[in-house]
Amino acid sequence: MSALHPPISADHAGAILTINLAAITENWRILKRKLRPGCDCGAVVKADAYGLGAPNIAAALAGAGCKTFYVAHLGEGVELRKVLGRAPRIIVLHGANPGLEGEVFKHGLIPVLSTPHQITAWRTFASNTDVLQETVIQVDTGMNRLGLSDKEFTGHLNDPDCFEGLTPLALMSHLASANTPKHPLNKAQLERFSRALRVFRVKFPDAKGTLSNSSGIFLGETWHHDYARPGAALYGLNPQPGNKNPMLPVALLQAKILQVRRVDSTETVGYGATFQATDGMKLATVSIGYADGFLRSLSNTGAASLDGFPIRVAGIVSMDLLTFDVSNVPDSSLRPGAMIDILSQEQTADDLASHADTIGYEILTSLGQRYARRYLPANAPGLSL
Ligand SMILES: *Cc1c(COP(=O)(O)O)cnc(C)c1O
Repeated sequence: MSALHPPISADHAGAILTINLAAITENWRILKRKLRPGCDCGAVVKADAYGLGAPNIAAALAGAGCKTFYVAHLGEGVELRKVLGRAPRIIVLHGANPGLEGEVFKHGLIPVLSTPHQITAWRTFASNTDVLQETVIQVDTGMNRLGLSDKEFTGHLNDPDCFEGLTPLALMSHLASANTPKHPLNKAQLERFSRALRVFRVKFPDAKGTLSNSSGIFLGETWHHDYARPGAALYGLNPQPGNKNPMLPVALLQAKILQVRRVDSTETVGYGATFQATDGMKLATVSIGYADGFLRSLSNTGAASLDGFPIRVAGIVSMDLLTFDVSNVPDSSLRPGAMIDILSQEQTADDLASHADTIGYEILTSLGQRYARRYLPANAPGLSL
């Protein structure tokens, strides 16, 4: 997000990351259409919009009609406010950092208050400065990560002044297992949340509810309430692992070939000599490594493609380089500067993640800062990369 990273030209970079803003805004529309009528479809753009660039993506989504944005940190909210102007709601999931309630207010950010301490600090700030700024109150319903426990929540509700000065926009909770629809925790969390929302509304009749992330949206309308908070699905990750992905792919990552060589069975490849070559094997070394988010755990397992030919990582992934076995690729495709597709329509971040024993979220949020980044505009005619 910051000016510390000036744009890198495609000529200078080792790899090029193309982000299709039209596909991201279309994913947002797909999610919006799934929602209960009246439910606000927001966009989670924390962690630089999952590594893909919060300023460009948030601006495109605001242009498509998105009115509510979610970030994790106060600093992310401050930066996003500069991009979006005053109108859109920006909700800071981690709330106000201690002592910085004034900063949250100054930038028109809505804090999620998750602890008795955050609530007390906000109330003190609001009454001292006579400020009315909406807040979101978070209750824990089984994730045990952030949010008031049942006991804390009930304690607050029973104290006649306790939520005074908070101007609650919504009650929030977060699902732990929404990507596994059959998991019994989904229903249990829904019931705990519905109960909490009911008693909250006795005090705050206009309070909204917000429970669902991307996967939660696919659990059905009873999980939607008033505000949905999708992140991953906007960026093309599959909200229902194991089923066909209903989202459009949004990222194309291509790394340049630096060198091609032909080796025989006396040779090994890379650090630690973990890959044994066979006779006549062709290898291509490309300009991408673990410093660029091509995880080292993809060593000897990661896949990619070159002119449509599937290829595999040979040896250990280095910091800035890795080597592919390209024996099956015709020589005409093997020239320095040729582009290997790391993320594409054929291999999504979810697919690459499956080779590294991780999830697509980690692949995207690990993407490095050294790519030449290209943004295909939201109003472009074609949705494909
Ligand atoms: C990250 C996050 C989301 C978005 O989740 P996805 O699975 O990416 O859709 C929503 N709510 C909270 C509280 C989060 O931390």
